[in-house]
Amino acid sequence: MTVVDMRIAGMSRAAQDGRRYCRHNPVSGAVATEAAAASVADAVAAAEAADAAFPAWAALGPNARRAALLKAADALAAKGDAFVEAMATETGATEMWARFNVMLAASMLREAAALTTQIAGEVIPSDKPGCVSMGLREPAGVVLGIAPWNAPVILGVRALATPLACGNGVVFKASELCPRTHALIVEALEEAGLPAGLVSFVTNAPEDAAEIVGALIDHPAIRRINFTGSTKVGRIIAERAARHFKPCLLELGGKAPLLVLRDADLDEAVNAAIFGAFFNQGQICMSTERIILAPEIADAFVARFIARAATLKAGDPAIGDCPLGAVIDARTVAKVSELIEDARAKGAEIHSAGPAEGVLMPAQVVDRVTPEMRLYAEESFGPVVAILRATDEDDQIRLANDTEYGLSAAVFTTDIARGLTVARRIRSGMCHINGATVHDEAQMPFGGTKASGYGRFGGKAGIEEFTELRWITFETQ
Ligand code: NAD
Repeated sequence: MTVVDMRIAGMSRAAQDGRRYCRHNPVSGAVATEAAAASVADAVAAAEAADAAFPAWAALGPNARRAALLKAADALAAKGDAFVEAMATETGATEMWARFNVMLAASMLREAAALTTQIAGEVIPSDKPGCVSMGLREPAGVVLGIAPWNAPVILGVRALATPLACGNGVVFKASELCPRTHALIVEALEEAGLPAGLVSFVTNAPEDAAEIVGALIDHPAIRRINFTGSTKVGRIIAERAARHFKPCLLELGGKAPLLVLRDADLDEAVNAAIFGAFFNQGQICMSTERIILAPEIADAFVARFIARAATLKAGDPAIGDCPLGAVIDARTVAKVSELIEDARAKGAEIHSAGPAEGVLMPAQVVDRVTPEMRLYAEESFGPVVAILRATDEDDQIRLANDTEYGLSAAVFTTDIARGLTVARRIRSGMCHINGATVHDEAQMPFGGTKASGYGRFGGKAGIEEFTELRWITFETQ
């Protein structure tokens, strides 16, 4: 068991009232971590400390910020084994998922380092004689970053990297489900020499989330809110932020479709669908939740897909390597089981790689899913995938768009021009032709539309999110 404190003003800090909460290992049930349970006073102190620290950071030259972020990438990568251990005990993640997290997160810090010299404004022609008009990009101030547990290193670092590159301070509010994993990120930043206090790290008991997040959003030092999590909580956060006219970047839930067109290479499509549906037990916002098949290839695809899925067993990552690790909690197993039973009762065909044992749930495939079934519309966020059989290509596109979500999508075809036409008709932030729905790279404009949120991480889009564009003039005559 590990004890995790908050970090505020460069110092370790227990909650002001001394409270802690326990995070249990989802597989064994043992206490994995005991973390500080912030009070509102701690949240206020966290916002104030980051507000005091960020002007000096913003005043550094871009190359000094770049050097610090590059060091942070190395420090993070050096903690690979610690992340593997923390993610296994706090979230039941496999070693492969943990190592992938560390690799992509380090790449995000390197990309952020590269951005420091790209934060450029412009000189805009003015109608006023002798007036020089500039659009300047300045740090927004303190950014509140809230990250979930499912890809904890990637999403924790994503909450920090671009905001820091832009000269901001950050209050990083950890997920209640992985406080130690998130604390390791802050440790890496501090070891790399980022200024004390620039990042405040706050942990809270699950029952206090609304109060602590609410107090942070309300604090005047917080100028941007950057939230990755469920659509339900995203809505609460956006409404609270709107009271103060504070901009949000919201990365929310998904129900990604993978369309297999009639001329697709079926082996490629099956590989991508298996990876997209079951990597990290389907607990990725971009997970393939729906496979939408053209009638000409449906039977052949299903036969190959279920044969592969049947091999995907789940095991305790603490004991050995298995294709699937644990799902996050018993509630997720119960929800996925309910979705499957509901579909079965309404006529779907179930192909299971085996029954769940505790939080170890092997791959589940539900064929012939129709709109009356809950699985058609609800995000499962677990190791189950729905197969929808379309009547033709237009119907495939109609089904892909018949969802409240719009994060990622994929289209499989051997005709790229046709793939592009179909991709452009799908309403999602991201779409990959002949690639998996699960695809992230640090420099890409990552983000969703509809109930999957708004705003973009990565590259220049990220600079726009985390800077204030100001109009400054001076008169020369
Ligand atoms: P969640 O929304 O339950 O929790 C996220 C955070 O919200 C936690 O830190 C929690 O403290 C906080 N929170 C909970 N209740 C709150 C309240 N009432 N007011 C304010 N804050 C509150 O999400 P989760 O279970 O951690 O993550 C899973 C979800 O995240 C899935 O829906 C998934 O699709 C989504 N997700 C999206 C992306 C993306 O990039 N779009 C990435 C990963 C996960």
